[in-house]
Amino acid sequence: MRDFTLKSYKTLLLAFQQAGYRFLTFEEWMTASNEGRTVVMRHDVDELAGNALKMARLEHALGVRATYFFRVVKQSNVPEVIKQIVALGHEVGYHYEDLALAEGDVKKAMVSFEKNLEYFRSYYPVKSVCMHGSSTSKYDNRLLWKEHQLSDYGLVGEPYLTVDFNKVFYMTDTGYAWDGGKYATRDVVESGFDLHFHTTRQIVQCIKEENFPKQVLVLAHTLWTDNVVQWHWLHCREFFRNNVKQWAKTNKFVAIIYNRLVQWYWKKR
Ligand SMILES: [Zn+2]
Repeated sequence: MRDFTLKSYKTLLLAFQQAGYRFLTFEEWMTASNEGRTVVMRHDVDELAGNALKMARLEHALGVRATYFFRVVKQSNVPEVIKQIVALGHEVGYHYEDLALAEGDVKKAMVSFEKNLEYFRSYYPVKSVCMHGSSTSKYDNRLLWKEHQLSDYGLVGEPYLTVDFNKVFYMTDTGYAWDGGKYATRDVVESGFDLHFHTTRQIVQCIKEENFPKQVLVLAHTLWTDNVVQWHWLHCREFFRNNVKQWAKTNKFVAIIYNRLVQWYWKKR
């Protein structure tokens, strides 16, 4: 069976449900009691907003509420999709990258952050934000919070700042694998758990055997698809991208070309 399809995503959700996990949105997780077995499904909608909607519908059909973080770039910021995801009862948050877009100018970044937060609040009363890794930028978007407080903006949480990953098990599907973290540039966390998985099936097995941590934060991007052509194309692209990323670490020329390509691809609307 192909992994990272909606079918395999469903097996993961069902495994959590059957093992008695409660699904919380990130906002609920930050503000309500998260005793017992709880899991937050966090989706960074970096691109392919249409896929996010398909995941949102599947979750809704199973009675699961998740958290979707949207960017301002056109591949993510699709009003029709955001509206429908809100209508399905999910939480919407802002996947910010203002410091990278403002080339490190904190003042300018804070102005655009506020403006973009207002924009997303026209769809949903946003209480959560989450930084985008901006792997080709030298600026870490989280640095905004060195001089500012989340609460000053009516926010209750930022996964990279307000979660203790020694207590909460964090899993991410970076590069079409659950152990692809080595390809991530910034969205990595210090984990207090010595647990490693490659496939969704391994995770499902571990949950069934009741060996899985009680509190879990899952980051699933929007690359999960049942469309065979898209699935193969995305696998090739991720494979190529991961290799170029590794190569760019030691070759300046490759790094420049790669950064140009990425910047061109994400050009703001
Ligand atoms: Zn992102």
